[in-house]
Amino acid sequence: MMALPAVRAMAGREGDPTMPEELRADVVVVGAGPVGGTLACRLAAAGVVTAIVDRAALPPMEHPVFDGRAYAIAAGSRALLMDAGLWDRLPDLPNPILDIRVTDGLVGRRASRLHLHFNHQEAGGEPGPFGWMVEARGLRRALNAHVRDLPDLRVFAPAEASVERSVEGARVGIVGGPSIACRLVIAAEGRQSPLREAAGIRVTRIGYDQTGIVCAISHELPHNNLALEHFLPSGPFAVLPMAPSVDAEEGGAPNVSAVVWTERTRIAETILGLDDRRFAREIRRRLGDYLGDVRTVGRRWNYPLSAMLAHRYVDTRLALAGDAAHAIHPVAGQGLNLGFRDAIALAGLVIEAKAAGEDVGSPGLLARYQRARRPDNLAMLAMTDGLDRLFSTNNPAARLARDLGIAAVDRAGPLKRVFMRRAMGA
Ligand SMILES: Cc1cc2nc3c(=O)[nH]c(=O)nc-3n(C[C@H](O)[C@H](O)[C@H](O)COP(=O)(O)OP(=O)(O)OC[C@H]3O[C@@H](n4cnc5c(N)ncnc54)[C@H](O)[C@@H]3O)c2cc1C
Repeated sequence: MMALPAVRAMAGREGDPTMPEELRADVVVVGAGPVGGTLACRLAAAGVVTAIVDRAALPPMEHPVFDGRAYAIAAGSRALLMDAGLWDRLPDLPNPILDIRVTDGLVGRRASRLHLHFNHQEAGGEPGPFGWMVEARGLRRALNAHVRDLPDLRVFAPAEASVERSVEGARVGIVGGPSIACRLVIAAEGRQSPLREAAGIRVTRIGYDQTGIVCAISHELPHNNLALEHFLPSGPFAVLPMAPSVDAEEGGAPNVSAVVWTERTRIAETILGLDDRRFAREIRRRLGDYLGDVRTVGRRWNYPLSAMLAHRYVDTRLALAGDAAHAIHPVAGQGLNLGFRDAIALAGLVIEAKAAGEDVGSPGLLARYQRARRPDNLAMLAMTDGLDRLFSTNNPAARLARDLGIAAVDRAGPLKRVFMRRAMGA
């Protein structure tokens, strides 16, 4: 496979006279989000000649107003970010999660005394935190800088891609730009994936009638690196420990957490309309006292929640990765981690095939990828869906049963360790 010409600074710009009309690459990734961008960096770092296309301009995606989410990055995902050269480029220090507490309760009341507490030192295996909190826009900043620095990676953004695939190979036309001949196209354009639709791959969707409200809070007392998952009848309310912020408030904020608050959509609409003081009061009614006084910092975001699973992850010269293949309820903060596990599996297979001089888009390789990833993603979808249904109810019998279940798991060492290893992405 011939390498891409080394004209990178002008890559993807319309009217560039130095741009050849025909390029060759091993892989073209469509979608430069966290999954597609990281996968492209991982492949290029290993010498796989890769091009990445995003229909949006990349820089605006790192602005504070673009995405308010913060990701809980599991240990396995962190290893991927390191291999891709991204971990050290994160602009802010990722904050470790050392303890996880799972509680059950009602709005405005103390949590049930029966709870689950996970400490990272009890998890077994490699010692280390459960995960690290990373701001979505921080990851975007690292990605946007790094994709331009890798000699084996070429970036086209903003650009529209038109894809033709056949048994022999694929061709990705950049509208108004060159055409790229490649062996494999990876669809990483998120939930609405046009490449998945064009391939006729059907999906199963689950609607939740829930909205994810996301914001950051500054609080009086330290979080001690504890993540809280507090189950309420409208849905889970998660508080995740972030690193101190220099610019969240005037003079800086030493104690900061991210809130992912699931509400019934009708109630969420009312809550989102509250002024800052009343909004903070609603947070406090759910959170209790453990962080002391609470203020919201920055703006609030909201995301309609649904789950989805593609019936197939592959087609001729095509693989789906990340939210293009699956989407899950954020109850366990695992959506991106699943996408990263897709990236780890696919990158492993492609790098191995390239090193052996084999076709990186062969039917055999694609079948192995699907076998490696679809069952795992289906299991996590079922688990998160089940958790949300079990906990998002006010039925007293169901509440008693799950409180007893929580207490039983807390006492059962081996089962508890299974949950902990799972949360770490092991
Ligand atoms: C409220 C909430 C909280 C969450 N919290 C967590 C968490 O704590 N931990 C976790 O692991 N996950 C979390 N998730 C899930 C996580 O946000 C997603 O799994 C993740 O963003 C998926 O990344 P992706 O790269 O697959 O897709 P996306 O982030 O959707 O990126 C897709 C990219 O493709 C581009 N694109 C779209 N269409 C085209 C096209 N036609 N051509 C070219 N490019 C295109 C887009 O511009 C974008 O850059 C959360 C989700 C929600 C809703």
